[in-house]
Amino acid sequence: MLFKLKIVYYLLTIKFLNISGVNKTEFHKSLLKRKFVKKIRASRYYMNLLDKHGSIEKFPLTNKNIFMENFDLINTAGISIGQASETAEKAEKSRNFSNMIGDISVGLSTGTSGKRGIFLISENERARWVAYILDRVIGFSFRRRKLAFFLRADNKLYQSVKSNILDFQFFDIHLSIDEHVTKINELNPDILIAQPSVLSVITKLKNQSKITIQPKQIISVAEVLTQEDRKHIENTFQVKISEVYQCTEGFLAASCKEGTLHFNEDYLIIEKKYINAEKTKFHPVITDLLRKTQPIIRYELNDIISEKKNCACGNTHIGIQQIEGRSDDIIIMKNTKGEKITIFPDIIRRTVVLSDSNIDDYKVTYKSFTFHLAIKSQNKTSFSKAQNALIKKLNTYDIYDFEIIQIPYKTIDLGIKRRRVENLNK
Ligand SMILES: [Zn+2]
Repeated sequence: MLFKLKIVYYLLTIKFLNISGVNKTEFHKSLLKRKFVKKIRASRYYMNLLDKHGSIEKFPLTNKNIFMENFDLINTAGISIGQASETAEKAEKSRNFSNMIGDISVGLSTGTSGKRGIFLISENERARWVAYILDRVIGFSFRRRKLAFFLRADNKLYQSVKSNILDFQFFDIHLSIDEHVTKINELNPDILIAQPSVLSVITKLKNQSKITIQPKQIISVAEVLTQEDRKHIENTFQVKISEVYQCTEGFLAASCKEGTLHFNEDYLIIEKKYINAEKTKFHPVITDLLRKTQPIIRYELNDIISEKKNCACGNTHIGIQQIEGRSDDIIIMKNTKGEKITIFPDIIRRTVVLSDSNIDDYKVTYKSFTFHLAIKSQNKTSFSKAQNALIKKLNTYDIYDFEIIQIPYKTIDLGIKRRRVENLNK
């Protein structure tokens, strides 16, 4: 109950900030920043940087590697990387989802960098996350709405939105999508939330009349939604898709009524690290003024953003024309009964990344029953660990007819779409 009260409290605060217009002022942001700087003094890592550089603007850039190397010193909850890894791995493998240390939930991310990351979020931070998602994406209504949420594994972060006004039903993408058909038709959700690759499969089943739902809202999360997929899904369901740009690093952006993603600059400081001479594409560098358990300061993401200027909605927060870098493929394989099984890229990504913490990067290419697996790691056994993990994972789907061979990492090319999981059979 306390958790729900927290959500209501944060939601009211956000509503007040929206209505009063305070969240658009520099005063509000500088106040947030001052509070944030006070809080990060509890982190030994940032305390040292503050002593050395004076202000957070002068901190050196960080990224997932640096962030993970200094995990113990960065977080303010006194949790060690060993403890967090063990909790996260156990939750993932046993699938009992007890990914908590005290009231801190531990998340694993694969993201676009190829290396795994571990993230910590407190109960207050979770409540605030839910409040922001309600405010910016789902919208508030007193009518009870049913929500179907497709995701990789259950997680406290998502499970928490169950109340008198919203009923979250969780669908595990580790299961074959056919197993969900009856359940999703029965639920007949008002709101459908899933990754684009899952939305595409649901759209196909809708066109085949196997899925009969007619959601009023469709929200695309986690991966990048391509224009082709967007058109196809929107035409089938006759609903405009809302997008959330989010990673375990935080809730970064949501789409406006014009369909443009805008960064949540009321609580994020976004710097653009340009990667081309024309200054049209950049890596976002993020400082999240609301995260205290594991403060994120000047954290560079690998995603490549093209900016959209002057959005017609009037929101002055940085608009996103396109995000390149999370465009992995679905792989369709046959099980021993000859049934087609859809393997979502997220499952391949996580299986590889979770198999060995030494893996720095990887690429999986699938063609004619063979996975070509390139691994970058200092550990010689990383390939066989990833290979075994993939075999085990695919066997759980009753898939045995495939081979996994190693190819040298240096020959891999992630390409413009930066695919880590690529299906050449398409
Ligand atoms: Zn806009």
